Amino acid sequence: MAKGPTDTLTPATRLVTGGRRKEWTGPAVNPPVWRASTILYEDMAALTDGPKTNADGAFFYGRRGAPTQWALAEALTALEVGAAGTMLYPSGVAAIAGALLAVLRPGEVLLMTDNAYDPSRALAHGLLREFGIETRFFDPLDVAGFAAAICQRSRAVLLESPGSLTMEVQDVPALAAIARKRGLVSIIDNTWASPLGFAALEHGVDIAVMSLTKHVGGHSDLMMGCASGGHEYYRKLRHTAQMLGQTVSPDDAALALRGLRTLGVRLERETDSALAIAEWLASRPEVAQVLCPMLPGAPGHALWSRDFTGGCGLFSFILKGGDAALRNRFIDALRLFGIGYSWGGFESLVVPVDPAPIRSVTPWPPAGMDEGDRFGVRLSIGLEDPADLIADLEQAFAALASS
Ligand SMILES: *Cc1c(COP(=O)(O)O)cnc(C)c1O
Repeated sequence: MAKGPTDTLTPATRLVTGGRRKEWTGPAVNPPVWRASTILYEDMAALTDGPKTNADGAFFYGRRGAPTQWALAEALTALEVGAAGTMLYPSGVAAIAGALLAVLRPGEVLLMTDNAYDPSRALAHGLLREFGIETRFFDPLDVAGFAAAICQRSRAVLLESPGSLTMEVQDVPALAAIARKRGLVSIIDNTWASPLGFAALEHGVDIAVMSLTKHVGGHSDLMMGCASGGHEYYRKLRHTAQMLGQTVSPDDAALALRGLRTLGVRLERETDSALAIAEWLASRPEVAQVLCPMLPGAPGHALWSRDFTGGCGLFSFILKGGDAALRNRFIDALRLFGIGYSWGGFESLVVPVDPAPIRSVTPWPPAGMDEGDRFGVRLSIGLEDPADLIADLEQAFAALASS
Protein backbone atom coordinates (compact mmCIF):
# COMPACT_ATOMS: atom_id res chain seq x y z
CA MET A 1 0.00 0.00 0.00
CA ALA A 2 2.40 2.66 -1.21
CA LYS A 3 -0.46 5.14 -1.68
CA GLY A 4 -3.49 5.94 0.38
CA PRO A 5 -4.24 7.00 3.92
CA THR A 6 -1.01 5.49 5.31
CA ASP A 7 0.93 8.28 3.57
CA THR A 8 0.00 10.72 6.31
CA LEU A 9 1.06 8.47 9.19
CA THR A 10 4.43 8.76 10.87
CA PRO A 11 6.92 5.90 10.54
CA ALA A 12 6.29 4.82 14.16
CA THR A 13 2.63 4.27 13.35
CA ARG A 14 3.32 2.68 9.96
CA LEU A 15 5.41 0.05 11.77
CA VAL A 16 2.20 -0.99 13.51
CA THR A 17 -0.30 -0.66 10.67
CA GLY A 18 1.76 -1.78 7.65
CA GLY A 19 0.62 -4.84 5.73
CA ARG A 20 -2.35 -5.62 7.96
CA ARG A 21 -4.99 -5.86 5.25
CA LYS A 22 -8.19 -7.46 6.42
CA GLU A 23 -8.19 -9.91 3.50
CA TRP A 24 -4.78 -11.15 4.64
CA THR A 25 -5.23 -11.16 8.42
CA GLY A 26 -8.85 -12.29 8.63
CA PRO A 27 -10.18 -11.38 12.07
CA ALA A 28 -6.73 -11.88 13.67
CA VAL A 29 -4.25 -9.08 14.33
CA ASN A 30 -1.53 -10.79 12.29
CA PRO A 31 -1.72 -12.63 8.99
CA PRO A 32 -1.68 -16.38 9.58
CA VAL A 33 1.27 -18.43 8.33
CA TRP A 34 0.04 -19.43 4.89
CA ARG A 35 1.97 -22.58 4.03
CA ALA A 36 1.37 -22.95 0.34
CA SER A 37 3.10 -24.29 -2.71
CA THR A 38 0.07 -25.24 -4.80
CA ILE A 39 -2.67 -22.69 -5.29
CA LEU A 40 -5.93 -24.25 -6.53
CA TYR A 41 -8.00 -22.62 -9.27
CA GLU A 42 -11.78 -22.72 -9.53
CA ASP A 43 -11.79 -23.70 -13.18
CA MET A 44 -9.84 -23.53 -16.42
CA ALA A 45 -10.73 -19.89 -17.01
CA ALA A 46 -9.22 -18.97 -13.63
CA LEU A 47 -6.12 -21.06 -14.37
CA THR A 48 -5.66 -19.30 -17.70
CA ASP A 49 -6.04 -15.87 -16.10
CA GLY A 50 -3.89 -16.75 -13.08
CA PRO A 51 -0.45 -15.79 -14.36
CA LYS A 52 -1.65 -12.53 -15.89
CA THR A 53 -1.64 -10.54 -12.68
CA ASN A 54 1.95 -10.69 -11.53
CA ALA A 55 1.64 -8.68 -8.33
CA ASP A 56 1.64 -9.24 -4.58
CA GLY A 57 -1.94 -9.92 -3.57
CA ALA A 58 -2.69 -12.11 -6.59
CA PHE A 59 -2.52 -15.86 -5.91
CA PHE A 60 -0.62 -17.84 -8.55
CA TYR A 61 1.84 -20.43 -7.18
CA GLY A 62 3.83 -20.67 -3.96
CA ARG A 63 6.92 -19.11 -5.44
CA ARG A 64 5.07 -15.81 -5.79
CA GLY A 65 4.14 -15.88 -2.13
CA ALA A 66 0.91 -15.76 -0.18
CA PRO A 67 -0.52 -13.28 2.34
CA THR A 68 2.20 -13.76 5.00
CA GLN A 69 4.98 -12.72 2.60
CA TRP A 70 2.81 -10.06 0.92
CA ALA A 71 2.03 -8.47 4.29
CA LEU A 72 5.72 -8.24 5.15
CA ALA A 73 6.64 -6.78 1.76
CA GLU A 74 3.83 -4.25 2.00
CA ALA A 75 4.79 -3.23 5.54
CA LEU A 76 8.39 -2.67 4.39
CA THR A 77 7.21 -0.66 1.38
CA ALA A 78 5.12 1.53 3.67
CA LEU A 79 8.30 2.41 5.59
CA GLU A 80 10.39 3.22 2.53
CA VAL A 81 9.04 6.55 1.34
CA GLY A 82 9.08 6.66 -2.47
CA ALA A 83 9.03 2.89 -2.94
CA ALA A 84 6.50 1.25 -5.26
CA GLY A 85 7.22 -2.19 -3.85
CA THR A 86 9.62 -4.48 -2.01
CA MET A 87 11.07 -7.84 -2.97
CA LEU A 88 11.97 -10.36 -0.29
CA TYR A 89 15.06 -12.58 -0.50
CA PRO A 90 16.32 -15.51 1.59
CA SER A 91 19.20 -13.40 2.98
CA GLY A 92 20.68 -9.92 2.85
CA VAL A 93 23.42 -11.16 0.54
CA ALA A 94 20.75 -12.55 -1.80
CA ALA A 95 19.08 -9.12 -1.79
CA ILE A 96 22.34 -7.39 -2.74
CA ALA A 97 22.95 -9.97 -5.48
CA GLY A 98 19.34 -9.63 -6.65
CA ALA A 99 19.63 -5.85 -6.92
CA LEU A 100 22.97 -5.94 -8.75
CA LEU A 101 21.84 -8.64 -11.19
CA ALA A 102 18.64 -6.69 -11.85
CA VAL A 103 20.49 -3.70 -13.24
CA LEU A 104 23.92 -4.86 -14.50
CA ARG A 105 24.72 -6.61 -17.79
CA PRO A 106 27.94 -8.06 -19.24
CA GLY A 107 30.42 -5.43 -20.35
CA GLU A 108 29.18 -2.88 -17.82
CA VAL A 109 31.04 -1.46 -14.84
CA LEU A 110 29.90 -1.39 -11.23
CA LEU A 111 31.33 1.22 -8.91
CA MET A 112 31.50 0.00 -5.34
CA THR A 113 32.29 1.93 -2.20
CA ASP A 114 35.52 0.64 -0.66
CA ASN A 115 33.89 0.17 2.76
CA ALA A 116 31.33 -2.30 1.35
CA TYR A 117 30.35 -5.40 3.28
CA ASP A 118 32.82 -8.18 2.49
CA PRO A 119 30.34 -10.57 0.79
CA SER A 120 29.34 -7.70 -1.55
CA ARG A 121 32.98 -7.47 -2.54
CA ALA A 122 33.19 -11.25 -2.94
CA LEU A 123 30.24 -11.16 -5.35
CA ALA A 124 32.02 -8.49 -7.39
CA HIS A 125 35.28 -10.43 -7.48
CA GLY A 126 33.47 -13.70 -8.18
CA LEU A 127 30.23 -14.16 -10.06
CA LEU A 128 30.00 -10.61 -11.44
CA ARG A 129 33.52 -10.77 -12.84
CA GLU A 130 32.82 -14.20 -14.35
CA PHE A 131 29.74 -12.73 -16.01
CA GLY A 132 31.84 -9.97 -17.56
CA ILE A 133 30.86 -7.23 -15.13
CA GLU A 134 33.83 -5.23 -13.90
CA THR A 135 33.88 -3.60 -10.46
CA ARG A 136 35.89 -0.51 -9.58
CA PHE A 137 36.17 0.58 -5.98
CA PHE A 138 36.13 4.20 -4.82
CA ASP A 139 36.93 6.01 -1.59
CA PRO A 140 33.63 6.18 0.34
CA LEU A 141 34.32 9.78 1.42
CA ASP A 142 35.58 11.16 -1.90
CA VAL A 143 32.64 12.55 -3.88
CA ALA A 144 34.85 14.09 -6.58
CA GLY A 145 36.78 10.83 -6.84
CA PHE A 146 33.52 8.98 -7.42
CA ALA A 147 32.52 11.38 -10.20
CA ALA A 148 35.96 10.99 -11.77
CA ALA A 149 35.74 7.19 -11.66
CA ILE A 150 32.59 7.08 -13.82
CA CYS A 151 33.24 5.94 -17.38
CA GLN A 152 31.18 5.18 -20.50
CA ARG A 153 30.50 1.63 -19.36
CA SER A 154 29.56 2.49 -15.75
CA ARG A 155 26.04 1.36 -15.06
CA ALA A 156 25.51 1.18 -11.30
CA VAL A 157 26.96 2.19 -7.95
CA LEU A 158 26.73 0.33 -4.65
CA LEU A 159 26.83 2.53 -1.55
CA GLU A 160 26.95 1.51 2.10
CA SER A 161 26.60 4.18 4.75
CA PRO A 162 27.72 3.97 7.46
CA GLY A 163 30.11 1.19 6.42
CA SER A 164 29.13 -1.70 8.63
CA LEU A 165 32.69 -2.32 9.94
CA THR A 166 34.43 1.02 9.75
CA MET A 167 31.42 3.33 9.95
CA GLU A 168 32.30 5.90 7.27
CA VAL A 169 29.25 8.06 6.56
CA GLN A 170 28.95 8.82 2.86
CA ASP A 171 27.50 11.97 1.33
CA VAL A 172 24.69 9.88 -0.13
CA PRO A 173 22.60 12.77 -1.56
CA ALA A 174 25.64 14.09 -3.45
CA LEU A 175 26.72 10.64 -4.69
CA ALA A 176 23.18 9.67 -5.70
CA ALA A 177 22.68 12.97 -7.55
CA ILE A 178 25.89 12.45 -9.54
CA ALA A 179 24.89 8.86 -10.30
CA ARG A 180 21.48 9.93 -11.58
CA LYS A 181 22.89 12.71 -13.71
CA ARG A 182 25.44 10.35 -15.28
CA GLY A 183 22.93 7.58 -15.95
CA LEU A 184 24.00 5.17 -13.19
CA VAL A 185 21.56 3.24 -11.01
CA SER A 186 22.33 3.88 -7.35
CA ILE A 187 21.88 1.07 -4.85
CA ILE A 188 22.46 1.42 -1.12
CA ASP A 189 22.99 -1.22 1.52
CA ASN A 190 20.88 0.52 4.16
CA THR A 191 21.03 -2.23 6.76
CA TRP A 192 22.65 -0.05 9.45
CA ALA A 193 20.02 2.68 9.51
CA SER A 194 16.93 0.92 8.11
CA PRO A 195 14.36 3.24 6.54
CA LEU A 196 13.60 4.56 10.03
CA GLY A 197 17.08 6.06 10.30
CA PHE A 198 17.76 6.95 6.67
CA ALA A 199 15.15 7.56 3.98
CA ALA A 200 17.28 6.30 1.09
CA LEU A 201 14.92 6.86 -1.84
CA GLU A 202 13.99 10.33 -0.56
CA HIS A 203 17.71 11.14 -0.60
CA GLY A 204 17.91 10.26 -4.29
CA VAL A 205 18.91 6.60 -4.21
CA ASP A 206 17.20 4.26 -6.71
CA ILE A 207 17.22 0.94 -4.81
CA ALA A 208 17.41 0.46 -1.03
CA VAL A 209 18.62 -2.94 0.19
CA MET A 210 18.49 -4.22 3.73
CA SER A 211 19.46 -7.42 5.52
CA LEU A 212 16.32 -8.19 7.52
CA THR A 213 18.44 -10.70 9.45
CA LYS A 214 19.72 -7.77 11.52
CA HIS A 215 17.38 -5.14 12.99
CA VAL A 216 14.08 -6.23 11.49
CA GLY A 217 14.36 -9.85 12.59
CA GLY A 218 15.91 -8.49 15.75
CA HIS A 219 16.02 -11.78 17.63
CA SER A 220 18.93 -13.64 15.97
CA ASP A 221 16.70 -16.41 14.69
CA LEU A 222 16.08 -15.79 11.00
CA MET A 223 17.80 -14.94 7.71
CA MET A 224 16.16 -12.64 5.17
CA GLY A 225 16.77 -9.62 2.97
CA CYS A 226 14.78 -7.09 0.97
CA ALA A 227 15.16 -4.57 -1.83
CA SER A 228 12.78 -1.66 -2.50
CA GLY A 229 12.54 0.78 -5.36
CA GLY A 230 10.25 3.08 -7.31
CA HIS A 231 8.13 1.67 -10.15
CA GLU A 232 10.89 1.18 -12.71
CA TYR A 233 13.35 -0.52 -10.37
CA TYR A 234 10.77 -2.48 -8.43
CA ARG A 235 9.70 -4.01 -11.75
CA LYS A 236 13.31 -4.95 -12.57
CA LEU A 237 13.89 -6.36 -9.06
CA ARG A 238 10.73 -8.43 -9.28
CA HIS A 239 11.51 -9.74 -12.76
CA THR A 240 15.03 -10.81 -11.75
CA ALA A 241 14.04 -12.30 -8.39
CA GLN A 242 11.37 -14.38 -10.12
CA MET A 243 13.78 -15.63 -12.77
CA LEU A 244 16.22 -16.62 -10.03
CA GLY A 245 13.44 -18.35 -8.12
CA GLN A 246 13.89 -16.31 -4.94
CA THR A 247 11.33 -17.01 -2.21
CA VAL A 248 11.09 -16.76 1.57
CA SER A 249 9.19 -19.13 3.81
CA PRO A 250 5.93 -17.95 5.39
CA ASP A 251 7.26 -18.94 8.84
CA ASP A 252 10.24 -16.63 8.43
CA ALA A 253 8.04 -13.89 7.00
CA ALA A 254 5.82 -14.12 10.09
CA LEU A 255 8.90 -13.85 12.35
CA ALA A 256 10.17 -10.86 10.39
CA LEU A 257 6.76 -9.18 10.67
CA ARG A 258 6.79 -9.75 14.42
CA GLY A 259 10.25 -8.19 14.62
CA LEU A 260 9.21 -5.26 12.47
CA ARG A 261 6.43 -4.22 14.86
CA THR A 262 8.93 -3.46 17.63
CA LEU A 263 11.74 -2.17 15.41
CA GLY A 264 11.25 1.46 16.42
CA VAL A 265 11.52 1.00 20.18
CA ARG A 266 14.39 -1.45 19.88
CA LEU A 267 16.39 0.91 17.65
CA GLU A 268 15.78 3.84 19.98
CA ARG A 269 16.89 1.90 23.01
CA GLU A 270 19.95 0.46 21.24
CA THR A 271 20.90 3.91 19.96
CA ASP A 272 20.70 5.46 23.45
CA SER A 273 22.75 2.62 24.95
CA ALA A 274 25.31 2.68 22.12
CA LEU A 275 25.77 6.41 22.53
CA ALA A 276 26.32 6.08 26.29
CA ILE A 277 28.84 3.28 25.74
CA ALA A 278 30.58 5.13 22.89
CA GLU A 279 30.94 8.22 25.12
CA TRP A 280 32.40 6.09 27.89
CA LEU A 281 34.84 4.40 25.49
CA ALA A 282 35.95 7.79 24.14
CA SER A 283 37.10 8.70 27.65
CA ARG A 284 39.20 5.55 28.10
CA PRO A 285 43.01 5.63 27.80
CA GLU A 286 42.99 2.22 26.05
CA VAL A 287 40.94 3.59 23.13
CA ALA A 288 42.52 5.46 20.21
CA GLN A 289 39.30 6.30 18.40
CA VAL A 290 35.61 5.59 18.61
CA LEU A 291 33.97 5.04 15.21
CA CYS A 292 30.36 5.86 16.02
CA PRO A 293 28.73 8.43 13.74
CA MET A 294 26.10 9.19 16.38
CA LEU A 295 28.80 10.44 18.76
CA PRO A 296 29.49 14.19 18.52
CA GLY A 297 33.06 14.70 17.33
CA ALA A 298 33.39 11.19 15.90
CA PRO A 299 34.11 10.71 12.15
CA GLY A 300 30.98 11.12 10.07
CA HIS A 301 28.94 12.84 12.78
CA ALA A 302 28.23 15.98 10.72
CA LEU A 303 26.82 14.05 7.74
CA TRP A 304 24.97 11.68 10.06
CA SER A 305 23.31 14.63 11.82
CA ARG A 306 22.39 16.20 8.49
CA ASP A 307 20.90 13.15 6.77
CA PHE A 308 19.79 10.61 9.37
CA THR A 309 16.72 10.49 11.58
CA GLY A 310 17.96 7.68 13.78
CA GLY A 311 20.82 5.40 14.67
CA CYS A 312 21.34 1.88 15.93
CA GLY A 313 23.49 -0.13 18.29
CA LEU A 314 26.31 -0.97 15.88
CA PHE A 315 29.65 0.84 16.11
CA SER A 316 33.39 0.17 16.30
CA PHE A 317 36.39 1.43 18.20
CA ILE A 318 40.15 1.21 17.71
CA LEU A 319 42.48 0.17 20.50
CA LYS A 320 45.50 2.32 21.20
CA GLY A 321 48.61 0.47 20.03
CA GLY A 322 48.87 -3.17 20.93
CA ASP A 323 48.52 -6.04 18.53
CA ALA A 324 45.96 -8.56 17.37
CA ALA A 325 46.73 -10.85 20.31
CA LEU A 326 45.99 -8.08 22.82
CA ARG A 327 42.75 -7.21 21.04
CA ASN A 328 41.75 -10.87 20.97
CA ARG A 329 42.44 -11.19 24.71
CA PHE A 330 40.20 -8.18 25.29
CA ILE A 331 37.37 -9.80 23.30
CA ASP A 332 37.86 -13.12 25.10
CA ALA A 333 37.61 -11.32 28.47
CA LEU A 334 34.13 -9.96 27.71
CA ARG A 335 31.32 -11.86 29.40
CA LEU A 336 28.08 -10.20 28.25
CA PHE A 337 29.08 -9.79 24.59
CA GLY A 338 28.76 -12.95 22.51
CA ILE A 339 31.48 -13.47 19.89
CA GLY A 340 29.68 -13.88 16.61
CA TYR A 341 28.69 -12.46 13.24
CA SER A 342 25.54 -10.58 12.58
CA TRP A 343 24.15 -7.77 14.69
CA GLY A 344 20.92 -5.94 15.45
CA GLY A 345 19.63 -8.67 17.76
CA PHE A 346 18.33 -8.19 21.31
CA GLU A 347 21.66 -9.46 22.69
CA SER A 348 25.02 -7.72 22.48
CA LEU A 349 27.75 -9.07 20.20
CA VAL A 350 31.40 -8.39 19.49
CA VAL A 351 33.71 -9.13 16.53
CA PRO A 352 37.22 -7.97 15.62
CA VAL A 353 37.65 -5.33 12.90
CA ASP A 354 40.56 -5.93 10.53
CA PRO A 355 39.69 -4.15 7.28
CA ALA A 356 43.24 -3.73 5.95
CA PRO A 357 43.39 -6.92 3.82
CA ILE A 358 40.09 -6.31 2.03
CA ARG A 359 40.49 -2.64 1.11
CA SER A 360 41.20 -1.81 -2.54
CA VAL A 361 41.71 1.96 -2.74
CA THR A 362 41.65 3.33 0.82
CA PRO A 363 44.34 2.52 3.37
CA TRP A 364 43.73 1.21 6.88
CA PRO A 365 44.31 2.82 9.30
CA PRO A 366 43.13 5.92 7.41
CA ALA A 367 45.20 9.07 7.06
CA GLY A 368 45.32 10.97 10.33
CA MET A 369 45.23 7.84 12.45
CA ASP A 370 48.38 6.47 14.07
CA GLU A 371 49.81 3.51 12.14
CA GLY A 372 50.02 1.54 15.41
CA ASP A 373 46.32 2.04 16.13
CA ARG A 374 44.87 -0.50 13.75
CA PHE A 375 43.20 -3.19 15.83
CA GLY A 376 39.50 -2.61 15.99
CA VAL A 377 36.54 -4.03 17.85
CA ARG A 378 32.95 -3.88 16.63
CA LEU A 379 30.12 -3.92 19.13
CA SER A 380 26.47 -4.58 18.47
CA ILE A 381 24.67 -3.16 21.47
CA GLY A 382 21.54 -5.06 22.44
CA LEU A 383 18.82 -4.45 24.97
CA GLU A 384 20.81 -5.15 28.14
CA ASP A 385 21.21 -2.36 30.69
CA PRO A 386 24.04 -0.19 29.30
CA ALA A 387 25.51 0.10 32.81
CA ASP A 388 26.06 -3.66 32.84
CA LEU A 389 27.66 -3.53 29.38
CA ILE A 390 29.99 -0.71 30.46
CA ALA A 391 30.94 -2.68 33.57
CA ASP A 392 31.72 -5.66 31.35
CA LEU A 393 33.94 -3.58 29.06
CA GLU A 394 35.64 -2.09 32.11
CA GLN A 395 36.48 -5.48 33.61
CA ALA A 396 37.84 -6.61 30.22
CA PHE A 397 40.17 -3.58 30.09
CA ALA A 398 41.22 -4.37 33.67
CA ALA A 399 41.90 -7.98 32.70
CA LEU A 400 44.21 -6.74 29.92
CA ALA A 401 46.11 -4.53 32.30
CA SER A 402 46.73 -7.40 34.69
CA SER A 403 47.63 -9.96 32.00
C1 LIG B 1 24.81 -8.93 7.48
C2 LIG B 1 24.88 -7.92 6.40
C3 LIG B 1 24.44 -8.20 5.11
C4 LIG B 1 24.02 -9.59 4.69
O1 LIG B 1 22.92 -10.03 5.34
P1 LIG B 1 22.63 -11.61 5.54
O2 LIG B 1 21.19 -11.58 5.86
O3 LIG B 1 23.52 -12.04 6.65
O4 LIG B 1 22.92 -12.28 4.25
C5 LIG B 1 24.48 -7.20 4.17
N1 LIG B 1 24.94 -5.98 4.47
C6 LIG B 1 25.37 -5.67 5.69
C7 LIG B 1 25.85 -4.30 5.94
C8 LIG B 1 25.38 -6.62 6.70
O5 LIG B 1 25.86 -6.33 7.90
